[in-house]
Amino acid sequence: MTPFAAMAGLVAQILEAPPPEYNAGPYTAKKVFSINPNRDCTTLIGSLEQSRKKFNACYVPLTDEIYLPKDCDETKGKIGKTCKGLVEHEEGHARGWRHKP
Ligand SMILES: [Zn+2]
Repeated sequence: MTPFAAMAGLVAQILEAPPPEYNAGPYTAKKVFSINPNRDCTTLIGSLEQSRKKFNACYVPLTDEIYLPKDCDETKGKIGKTCKGLVEHEEGHARGWRHKP
């Protein structure tokens, strides 16, 4: 297991699944597979320093893009449970789901 996978595994346990109405259906966002989603997400949507959390993935409304770890690219082969959780979560945001403050 790579350090990233270990870290993502921890996060996956607390990763919220989108509500059913955002769990399926079309969306326009493009997926960007990054070697450093935390860096890209922090640059694009701001630091989570306050909550001391790191981005594993994010949806950027301004550019309509989903940033995901490079390992989570389904077109390059089978993806693991952690990636599936991240993809589902961010696709939910791409369909309009927002976290309650
Ligand atoms: Zn979220």
